[in-house]
Amino acid sequence: MKKIKLLFFILLIFALNLYAQQLIKPKNIILMIGDGMGLAQISAGKTYKGLLNLERMKVVGLLTTYSCDRYVTDSGASATAMSTGYKTKNVAIGVDCNGERRKTVLEYANEIGKSTGVVVVCAITHATPAAFVAHVPNRNMQIEIAEQIAKEANTDIYLGAGWGWFLPKSEGGRRTDGQNLIDTLKKRGYVYISKPEEFYNLDMSKVNKLIGLFAENHPPYAPDRKPTLAEMTRKAIEFLSKDKDGFFLMVEGSQIDWAGHDNNSEQILREVADFDDAVGVALDFAQRDGNTLVVVTADHETGGYALVDGSVNDKKVEGKFVTKDHTGVMVPVFAFGPGAEAFAGFGDNTLIGKKIFEYLKK
Ligand SMILES: [Zn+2]
Repeated sequence: MKKIKLLFFILLIFALNLYAQQLIKPKNIILMIGDGMGLAQISAGKTYKGLLNLERMKVVGLLTTYSCDRYVTDSGASATAMSTGYKTKNVAIGVDCNGERRKTVLEYANEIGKSTGVVVVCAITHATPAAFVAHVPNRNMQIEIAEQIAKEANTDIYLGAGWGWFLPKSEGGRRTDGQNLIDTLKKRGYVYISKPEEFYNLDMSKVNKLIGLFAENHPPYAPDRKPTLAEMTRKAIEFLSKDKDGFFLMVEGSQIDWAGHDNNSEQILREVADFDDAVGVALDFAQRDGNTLVVVTADHETGGYALVDGSVNDKKVEGKFVTKDHTGVMVPVFAFGPGAEAFAGFGDNTLIGKKIFEYLKK
């Protein structure tokens, strides 16, 4: 009798444990990266916009961002830490410190039957998106990155820019190898669009896989971009959420970083506000869905941006910069939804990749 009681007790503990694990396992994961978005950038964005969507996320942490070989990371190394859980050297993409190819969370999500997407406001061959879908020793190998995207990656939806990297020079592109990789993608079942009107009028019920590239290389600064990051994020979530197995989506506010490199304080306000609109779209979905983890962070800070004066009433800041490059200061991470608690407190940027893998594997 005692033995039966003990067995029952063990089984009960086992069942409760399984139940608890189910509770924190998100079905969908949306990772949003504000490139170059440090605390000063967020403070400036809040002054400009008032209430940020970011404030809806109650779990907040701080991440170190150094790479294998540099205290101050570039976007390639930091995005690789987040996409694979492994540190790498500056400018490397999707490989570890020894140059060894490492699987990304997006690739793994594909493997286990989830749908996947990449939404950015830069060329999709640029460092951050590339680190989720390609593996090269140097981020400048955009010709090779485009080839890997077209021939090897299985991402279901790309929305961003950079069609020039996929077309030969003879067709207005940048490729000297004569390849038309847009044709390759079409043969693999992708619907290709390159004009905002096509984006707004697209009948998604007829789309299996989608690649939308809305500029030859990079689109302009906000608010001159069409479609906007928020519009593309909404479309991607609508599309991906049809998969009953769930999805992984990476969204990047790519140009917060460039405003930092330009030491353009006014543009930082616009880019952070634009990125925050997309965060709002993701959080609206996650709130309705109840089974979606949203993680928002930055790859590094850019500009050594500081707010030396400002006015909450006039929605203005006076910004100063100490560099035209990145800095090594910790970046904030915000999380919402099942599994969010793992991102509270101090951590390292590899935590993002490690935790997402863990949640996908459960
Ligand atoms: Zn940068």
